[in-house]
Amino acid sequence: MGGIGSGRRYQGGKDTTSDMRALDVRRLQRDGLLTPGRNFGWHWTRNGEELASIQMRTQVDRVILHYRSRSNGGEWQPMEYTVHLQWTPCNFGGRRVWFRCPAQGCGRRVAILFGGSIFACRHCHKLAYECQRETDDDRAMRRADTIRRRLGWEAGIANPEGGKPKGMHWNTFERLKAQHDAFANTSWAGMAERLGLINRRLEMLRLDPLELGRDE
Ligand SMILES: [Zn+2]
Repeated sequence: MGGIGSGRRYQGGKDTTSDMRALDVRRLQRDGLLTPGRNFGWHWTRNGEELASIQMRTQVDRVILHYRSRSNGGEWQPMEYTVHLQWTPCNFGGRRVWFRCPAQGCGRRVAILFGGSIFACRHCHKLAYECQRETDDDRAMRRADTIRRRLGWEAGIANPEGGKPKGMHWNTFERLKAQHDAFANTSWAGMAERLGLINRRLEMLRLDPLELGRDE
């Protein structure tokens, strides 16, 4: 059992969706783990190797998560917070349990929370991912502009490219131009992808009321 002290077994790095740890409230309920007063560990493994683990304890209508987290090889931070549970009646008797997403300002009723550094619903993680992508693209654009300044070109990757400045070696010029093109491509690709995401998000907005209706 890994438990809380086994921080070295956690994987660092980016919180991409494939990297996420899913916590399914239906599984917890099936295993009888949601009765108040329980205290247990939850482990994620791949090919028999433990990737991550968290500790949970239960109270009435809530689960307290306890684990350690760090980003980019930084200091381990102890994390502890409450995830509220909500129960809804089923059509054919009995009741169904949900997590309320603990991310600030969210509170969505969901079956699965995904753990990066915090456990939250997929909507919240998608939002965080898009914000991160946006800063990556902005950085590429700024770097392209820095090179454009050195070359004496007008700022903005949508503007036409100039030639080699007088007095600059061809080798230097070609190296800078290759760097500029790489940053510009990253930035263009990011913008194109964001437009795609916006379109998909608009589709999701149209679908959301149906999804909510089904969950009721
Ligand atoms: Zn959320």
